[in-house]
Amino acid sequence: MARGPVVLKFGGTSVGDADAIRRLVRHVAAAAQRGAAVVVVSALSGVTDRLLQLAAGASAGDDAAIAAGIEELRERHARAAAEVAADPADVIATTARDLEELRNLLHAVATLKDASPRTRDAIAAYGELLSSRIVRSACVAGGLKASWVDARRVVVTDDSFGAALPLTDRTEAAVAEHVAPVLARGEVPVLGGYIGATADGVTTTLGRGGSDYSAAIVGAALNASEIQIWTDVDGMMTADPRVVPATHVVPRLSFEEASELAYFGAKVLHPSTILPAIAKAIPVRILNSRRFEQSGTLITAGSQVDAPLAALACKRHVTVIDITSTRMLMAHGFLRRVFEVFERCRTPIDVVSTSEVSISVTIDDNRRLDEIIAELSAFAEVRVESEMAILCAVGDGLRQDPRLASRILGSLEQFPLRMVSQAASRRNVTVVLHEASAAAAMVHLHRTFFGREVDTPAVPLSVGAS
Ligand code: ADP
Ligand code: ASP
Ligand code: MG
Repeated sequence: MARGPVVLKFGGTSVGDADAIRRLVRHVAAAAQRGAAVVVVSALSGVTDRLLQLAAGASAGDDAAIAAGIEELRERHARAAAEVAADPADVIATTARDLEELRNLLHAVATLKDASPRTRDAIAAYGELLSSRIVRSACVAGGLKASWVDARRVVVTDDSFGAALPLTDRTEAAVAEHVAPVLARGEVPVLGGYIGATADGVTTTLGRGGSDYSAAIVGAALNASEIQIWTDVDGMMTADPRVVPATHVVPRLSFEEASELAYFGAKVLHPSTILPAIAKAIPVRILNSRRFEQSGTLITAGSQVDAPLAALACKRHVTVIDITSTRMLMAHGFLRRVFEVFERCRTPIDVVSTSEVSISVTIDDNRRLDEIIAELSAFAEVRVESEMAILCAVGDGLRQDPRLASRILGSLEQFPLRMVSQAASRRNVTVVLHEASAAAAMVHLHRTFFGREVDTPAVPLSVGAS
């Protein structure tokens, strides 16, 4: 089947300043030389945080901070545009117009002292609207034919503001209408990630870090040949480099391994990114936007086991809920009742383990915790422990070597584990422990399984003990 363009997504640090944007243009130009290319960009680094801060300040009635916030955003974007844009005056004028709209929105929030999720999305969307116009113009300055495409017309979503879900058929039709003609003209479409709109045209966002997801959604709709996630690290690393000092790049991952890692905290990939890629079997590559010679991490269907484990991930600030049946020991129907509570409260469960009399689950979305406890307490004893962390060791190799799971647990013997789980896929071993010991456990596990001195699976457990 003929494959479509390459989709290149650049994260916040890859559009942080003029130098970063110029590097971005070089990557796009290289891709455009090889074939059709689509660019998806995040807001300039830190801008989404700033916008959400302004929204929060305004909803608390802080009218005074708005002017300074708008001025700071104007200055930052104008400086970038002046340095990289082909038509700086036009870009600066459009930026000023957008920021006037934003100012009005923020004043309305300050007057009402209320920012609903819908309003917050409308405010947060300005980051990607502003950055994508600058990047489009920078591509033109770099000699490319590039057109700005309004992502709100392309990514059609439901109305779950703050974490909207794409509507695939409508998005495919919108991509065919707004993106495909640009490609047909031999131009590079440039659009903001993270944002979309409902079928009625109300602005939505896909959730923090959602530009990766946008790239995958657009890539799937275009049957892309590859979805490239350009970021500030060399690829998917063997663990979170902010926690573990000696990580290295994982050259290849299966879709399933990447999904597990993203879901359990590998921030380099938004957890939903892989889903559209799987649907169309599109390879996803993670690359460092500061480098020009590299292969990064390639994520494809099918596994190729190069090491016992692919990587580790960690999800922090999770809550463990222990639920013990007060009627009979695990009477039939008990589990159903438990899961129905979480379904009604629209709160996903991450890890589950059961014993004869009780079930323990973890959640990382606490917003409806009180309601969940109240509902569960109608038929069970409930105990809650917060400030816990999930540590997850992922690798298709776990399926091949049954001893690996016990080696993982054995190597963590000095850390009290609250829950342990291995799902049917046998692609990960997941433990839950206190947040305070998560970093040390991660470093220890990494040293045991990924320390450069360890390169065969048959290493005794004592290796790497600190
Ligand atoms: P971008 O702005 O490009 O989307 P993000 O900050 O969202 O970048 O994601 C990249 C960051 O993800 C890295 O700088 C790193 O700190 C963090 N990260 C966490 N776990 C991993 C991992 N396993 N591999 C690579 N990066 C990771
Ligand atoms: N700018 C958005 C955020 O900061 C989306 C993204 O960067 O992927 O969450
Ligand atoms: Mg990101």
